[in-house]
Amino acid sequence: MKPTMPTEQLINELQSYGVRLVDPKAGHESRRGGAGPSDHKAMTIDGMTVMVPVHTAPAFASPYFVEKPDDLGRSRVSHDGVMLGEVSFPMRPRFYDFATADGIPYWKIAVLHSRDVLATTVLQTCVRYQSRTKTCQFCAIGQSLAAGRTIERKTPGQLAEVAKAAVELDGVSHMVMTTGTPPGRDRGAAVLAESAAAVKGAVTLPIQGQCEPPDDQAWFGRMRDAGVDALGMHLEVVTPELRARIMPGKAQVSVDRYFTAFAAAVPVFGRGQVSTYILAGLGDTKEAILETSEKLISLGVYPFVVPFVPISGTPLESHPPPQPAFMHEILRPLAQMLRAAGLRATDIKAGCGKCGACSALSTYERGAARTHGAVA
Ligand code: SF4
Repeated sequence: MKPTMPTEQLINELQSYGVRLVDPKAGHESRRGGAGPSDHKAMTIDGMTVMVPVHTAPAFASPYFVEKPDDLGRSRVSHDGVMLGEVSFPMRPRFYDFATADGIPYWKIAVLHSRDVLATTVLQTCVRYQSRTKTCQFCAIGQSLAAGRTIERKTPGQLAEVAKAAVELDGVSHMVMTTGTPPGRDRGAAVLAESAAAVKGAVTLPIQGQCEPPDDQAWFGRMRDAGVDALGMHLEVVTPELRARIMPGKAQVSVDRYFTAFAAAVPVFGRGQVSTYILAGLGDTKEAILETSEKLISLGVYPFVVPFVPISGTPLESHPPPQPAFMHEILRPLAQMLRAAGLRATDIKAGCGKCGACSALSTYERGAARTHGAVA
């Protein structure tokens, strides 16, 4: 059953308002805490698997409601009693049932995102997370560690073991390796390189590394040679004054510095294989996001614009998520810009842009391709 409203609109609505679940255990474990967006659950709508907030304050009051799924994970979403369409929940991955020889459950080392993405935070600590004056106010990297849902440092051997199992048992097709920023000047590039090398030694799996711009640009080549196929360096917020307020530690690395790093990284990883995450809804205007995106695209960088999700327990837990109309006004022209430049989520080898589950952007890309009669 197709949704009764355009799929991209429904995804925007669900990602903005979240959903109330009749059965909170539906699907596999939701993401709670950790680096990047969280408090979501993966759901598939009209063939697109997306992450929908379920544990946030707005989700508890959402007008969207998802019934208890059947044994195959199939359910329906409604709004004020009006049925809108079918949703389904990816099943719990099989690799979650295993543990390392020293007893660490595999799900504490890496988790399934969306349907087929293995994700890990190699270092669960961050120099930016040590004090309230420096921390990125949207980030919950320390919460999952404090709650015992992960371990502080995933060794290369552990990551290789889990990645092999996730490919063989669950057919994961790419891997996201992010990291908290360590104190060194490489900003995490070194741990990503050694982790990628270990995973590539164990299994064939495209990998995206995510870190801040390293001080020495030679790290781009070192990461690529170690097995990192695509790179994410995440601006999060694009307006300098807002960056200084919302992410005072990370804002010490200026937007200009990021652009210098993007220009150096694209020739190493390839056009469209370098990306950045932009959180819409934290105060950047749509014009600012679109202007920055235009500059990024001209460099060959894929701007992955996602709606901000207020994560419980963070300083921004009461900040409202963006309105669906605001996301629509960004994602529609952005998808057209991407299409005009020939950058496509589907061409990215690995990572968040390829997965696309935290945003409706790739659904808009499909729409833009259809509008122009292209084969998506
Ligand atoms: S877009 Fe990135 S953070 Fe979101 S579910 Fe996919 S891999 Fe995870």
